Amino acid sequence: MDKDNKHPFSGETVYFATKHSKEQTLAPLLSKIGLLCVVADVDTDKFGTFSGEVARVGSVRDTLRLKIGAAAEVNPKARFFLASEGSFGPHPLIGFVQSDHEALLFVDRKLKTEIYVEEVSTETNHSEIEFGPRDDLQSFLNQIGFPEHGIIVKPKGNNQIVYKGLQSFRTVGQAIIDAFMLSSEAKVILSTDMRACFNPTRMKVIEKVGEKLIESLNSLCPKCKTPGFAISQGIPGLPCEECGEPSRISKDVLWSCVKCDHSEQKVRPDGIVKISAAECEYCNP
Ligand SMILES: [Zn+2]
Ligand SMILES: [Zn+2]
Repeated sequence: MDKDNKHPFSGETVYFATKHSKEQTLAPLLSKIGLLCVVADVDTDKFGTFSGEVARVGSVRDTLRLKIGAAAEVNPKARFFLASEGSFGPHPLIGFVQSDHEALLFVDRKLKTEIYVEEVSTETNHSEIEFGPRDDLQSFLNQIGFPEHGIIVKPKGNNQIVYKGLQSFRTVGQAIIDAFMLSSEAKVILSTDMRACFNPTRMKVIEKVGEKLIESLNSLCPKCKTPGFAISQGIPGLPCEECGEPSRISKDVLWSCVKCDHSEQKVRPDGIVKISAAECEYCNP
C-alpha cells in the first residue's frame, strides 16, 4: 500500500483464463485491491478436462502457465493474467479421504513475476461410481448434494460419450438410459461434475484460495515494494518437548520476494514452538 492506501496494482485489469464462471467468485475479491477482473477468451478445456476427454499433462504450475500463455496470445498488450486449476483425489497426507486441491497463478508480465497460491481442502463431494440396473441411484444423488451439484454420466467402456452438467432428474434418467445402451458392458459411470459452475462446494474452496492470493498481493516486499512477499520454504529444526533435539519439522519459515533477492527468516506463523515426544525420532524411534 502507498500513502494513499491504494494497492500498487489498483486501477489495473487482470485477464482471467477461465471457462466455468470462476470469475463470479474471484472478481469481487480482486476488486478489494482495485483490480478489475476480465474473462480472457480462452478454451481452457484444451489443457485437460475433469470428465476425461482431454488428459492433463505436466505439473499444476505447467498447466497454469499454458493457460496464461493462451490468454496472453489473445490479449498481447495486457500486463496481468490469472489462471486457476483444480484437481481431486485422495488427500496427500490423510490418504483415505477425498480432497480438492486448488491453485492460482497470478502473472505480472511487466515485472516478470509470478505469484502462486494453493489450498487443499477435504471439503469436496468428489466421487465416481459404477452403476448397474439394480443399483440405488437416489442414495448416490443424496450423497453428492444433487441437484445443486451437477453430475456426469458416461457409458462404461466408451470414452467418447459424456453427458455433463446434469442437474435435473429428467436429464439424469435419460442420460442413464442412453449410456446403458452405448456401453459395451451394460454399465454406466456416474461421477460428480467438478466444474466450478456445477459445484458450489468447489466454488467455496476457490474462494479460499482467492483470499490467499489477495493476502499475498497485499504483502509487499520490504525492500523493493513488489506485491507477493510470502513464505517460500520452511527451515527445519523444531525441537522436541522432551529431549530438546531438533527435528525435521520446520522451526522457522523463509519469506521471499518474487522480484528481488530479499528474504527474511521468521518464526512459523502458527505459533508452534515444540513437537511432541511421540513425533520425535530420538524419544520415539
Ligand atoms: Zn525427543
Ligand atoms: Zn523485493
